[in-house]
Amino acid sequence: MIIVSVTGPSMPEAFNQIASSVRYADIFELRLDLLPDTDVRAAIRATRKPVIATCRPVREGGSFEGPEVDRFDLLQRAIDAGARYVDLELDAWTPGRRQLRSRVSRLQWIVSHHSLGSYPRRVDVLYKSMMRTGAEVLKFAYTAEDAWQIKAAMEFLALARGDGKRALAIAMGEAGEASRVLYKVFGGWATFACPERGRQSAPGQLPASALRNVFRAHERTTRTKVFGLVGNPVGQSKGPYIHNVLYRRLDRDAIYCRFRVDNLPRFMKSFEGVLQGCSVTVPHKQAMMRLLSQVDPDARRLGAVNTVVRRATGYFGANTDASGALDAIEGKLLVAGKRCLVIGAGGAARAIAGEAIRRGATVCIANRTLARARSVARALGAEWTTIDGIPSFKPEILVNATSAGMWPDIDVSPVAAIPDTVHLAFDAIYNPVMTCFLEKAGKQGIMTVTGVEMFARQAVEQIRLFTGRKPLTTDVKRLFVAATRDPVQDSRRYIPDTRPGP
Ligand code: NAP
Repeated sequence: MIIVSVTGPSMPEAFNQIASSVRYADIFELRLDLLPDTDVRAAIRATRKPVIATCRPVREGGSFEGPEVDRFDLLQRAIDAGARYVDLELDAWTPGRRQLRSRVSRLQWIVSHHSLGSYPRRVDVLYKSMMRTGAEVLKFAYTAEDAWQIKAAMEFLALARGDGKRALAIAMGEAGEASRVLYKVFGGWATFACPERGRQSAPGQLPASALRNVFRAHERTTRTKVFGLVGNPVGQSKGPYIHNVLYRRLDRDAIYCRFRVDNLPRFMKSFEGVLQGCSVTVPHKQAMMRLLSQVDPDARRLGAVNTVVRRATGYFGANTDASGALDAIEGKLLVAGKRCLVIGAGGAARAIAGEAIRRGATVCIANRTLARARSVARALGAEWTTIDGIPSFKPEILVNATSAGMWPDIDVSPVAAIPDTVHLAFDAIYNPVMTCFLEKAGKQGIMTVTGVEMFARQAVEQIRLFTGRKPLTTDVKRLFVAATRDPVQDSRRYIPDTRPGP
């Protein structure tokens, strides 16, 4: 069930919210604390769906500041107007039930608790107190600072599942996003969504359209395989828009979500029984290796994994960035025998430089922080130089594997000029697609390869490892471009790379 929270604050806005999300909502929640002058009857009629009446007090994260009797009066009006459910906080349960009168037999009670401070430790104790109320539905919400804390929601829903009880458990905030997406995987009854972006009634709420169309959260079951992106930040990731579509096309009951993780060991432990695999991004590509039972030899040599899959013997790690980047470059120019200069000394630079060496290139690494370039070069058996020293290496292939030029700093380039020895310039950045660095190269008549080419190839291999089936690179690229049709991604800079290879 997808519950859309209607927050107004004016009645016309509330009606717009209902109209824009009616095809995605199974139930509407009227937030009476946020709708001060509500004609509840008219609002309930407009929804044409079952309605939950909620009037959240300030102490539980809502906006209602008046006395409890007034709050219950508002709820009573909603009951009388035909609300199907009433949400009553655990601490207001006894007085609320005493004052509120139901005139319809099908009215159902939701007992809720919002833990807004520290991470809830005794979920079992809370669960038991909520069960004792006899409410038809239990709702537990708390704030998560890190995705491992979704664990409390899983625990709560596991208890409810054991008792055959309808329950919701939500980890609020960006770090808890997956708890909203995976509610059915955890055995939950419903999840909350906002009618549209920017209209959240609680932090981390996703638009109902995204829950239904991108994640298909309502179709999932406890058997659905869970994959996702693990890192921080993850908010701008296009992964869900690509993986979820392709899993469906490949006929796999699997879901891909975003996990904003700081404490990686705790996350991997909390999700041990749930996570079937993940993409790994900054800052965990190196640290992840220590938590795996098996690492692909190439990934071990590169010192980083970007893909983890569950196998019978435990988690296995691989690096699809390396082959993705080199396959993209070699789509235009073979690297064997060429002089390749990689700018950067992070995870991407290491993967690209290591794989270029394996394919027969002579590699030199340059980085803003020279000491890091030196240490990566030593580990891989490459040369190193300063950014100013790049021309003296006489590179034929020049790779930007830094974040210089990434959105929002799109006018930055890692180098002031591109040496005239360069035949091909490759940028790992894919946001924007046509970076300042590639524009410079293009103006000099140099072949260019965008980060999307790498992204698509590494994603194809990652999806093969996750699902056992390989999507088409062109399909991944198409989905990527569709996903960037978002004003903040500056997709107008997308210039298809059509220059022919040699
Ligand atoms: P990382 O480990 O954080 O490394 C960042 C690198 O960028 C470091 O070498 C850092 O230099 C350098 N850097 C950052 N800001 C800079 C600036 N303003 N000027 C010059 N150098 C700067 O990140 P990563 O994982 O290697 O990722 C690097 C880039 O590759 C990112 O843009 C990422 O989006 C992209 N990437 C793309 C794909 C793909 O599929 N296309 C896959 C992975 C990564 P210092 O050492 O001096 O700090």
